[in-house]
Amino acid sequence: MEPGLASRGALPAAPPLPRWLTRHSLSPCLKIRNHIYSMPSPTYKVPSVTKCQASLATNYIRETSEVVDLDWENLGFGLVETDFMYVAKCGPDGNFSKGEVLPFGPIAVSPSAGVLNYGQGLFEGLKAYRKTDGSILLFRPEENATRMITGAERMCMPAPTVEQFVDAVKQTVLANKRWVPPTGKGSLYIRPLLMGSGAVLGLAPAPEYTFMIFVSPVGNYFKEGLSPINLIVEDKFHRASPGGTGGVKTIGNYASVLKAQKIAKSKGYSDVLYLDAVHDKYLEEVSSCNIFVVKDNVISTPAIKGTILPGITRKSIIEVAQSKGFKVEERLVSVDELLNADEVFCTGTAVVVSPVGSITYLGKRVEYGNQGVGVVSQQLYKSLTSLQMGLVEDFMDWTVQLN
Ligand SMILES: *Cc1c(COP(=O)(O)O)cnc(C)c1O
Repeated sequence: MEPGLASRGALPAAPPLPRWLTRHSLSPCLKIRNHIYSMPSPTYKVPSVTKCQASLATNYIRETSEVVDLDWENLGFGLVETDFMYVAKCGPDGNFSKGEVLPFGPIAVSPSAGVLNYGQGLFEGLKAYRKTDGSILLFRPEENATRMITGAERMCMPAPTVEQFVDAVKQTVLANKRWVPPTGKGSLYIRPLLMGSGAVLGLAPAPEYTFMIFVSPVGNYFKEGLSPINLIVEDKFHRASPGGTGGVKTIGNYASVLKAQKIAKSKGYSDVLYLDAVHDKYLEEVSSCNIFVVKDNVISTPAIKGTILPGITRKSIIEVAQSKGFKVEERLVSVDELLNADEVFCTGTAVVVSPVGSITYLGKRVEYGNQGVGVVSQQLYKSLTSLQMGLVEDFMDWTVQLN
């Protein structure tokens, strides 16, 4: 499979360039770059078209055959740009083109693109791990694909099929193989995006959509083992409301939580825990993580019903916990229960399992035992990460191996 080369010659007209590269080099381009992470990124130089074409083939062979020279020990969660990204487009017929693996770089979009004006956009997040034998494992990529389809439906967007999505993830990871950290040093974070890239003026679904994937190597979230986070229960802002979009990974949800997160961080908290917008007493979730409470070895988490994002880590942790004999309840969980829990943890692809050391609610702080790292959280973290990293037999059949 030669992803970077597959696109060559796709256009009959001379010069035979992918449409994206042509547009990119001719139009003034708006850099859409994901700056949610704080690591400084190297300045991007727009490659000359000919140089880029010539180097694509040779670099592809060379670059995928090694592991990149990075300071793997000090990898954080900031963006590290890699060699390639994936791009596929979809016109009014609703079908996505065969995608292309292209050099990573800025994309050109119309100022009137649906995503820029009306927020028609979704993202996904998953990880690839390198096993000790050098092979690469993806964790439940079909789950991300189906979640993108559900989200796209809510946002009036067409979505790639599960097969297209998973194939695109595989192509992108393989093209950027040398950026997958060595075993134990972290993982390759994979960020699929779906957006309304076509031009609109009046409020309407965009006439064209772009599905893209970029990747970045990331370190293990907790370098020195699990370290607990301190949460504040938000009493002014809400993340989601009934009938809204809290249940899908649409981009606007994350812009809307930045303010409360910023205030919380300025006061020394790690993140914000949101309550339901109707009663203000049931737990929803943290900005981008699901929440769990443990009492007398019973694990409880808010049930998925509209305002809660159906986390793949959440679902996996529930199944792992049940397989270990824990009782797991999906239901309404109140603030009172939270404050009286034995332990609290949250889940998400980035952190996997993050123990909660303290909760502050209306100025009162509750701390959890064992320095905040509960035994249940610790056990579940170990079980799930061992599966994801291929350290134990995949009895759940959750991993997808790349050669
Ligand atoms: C992505 C996300 C999660 C976690 O989902 P995973 O699939 O486990 O990564 C939880 N809550 C919100 C709001 C999210 O956006």
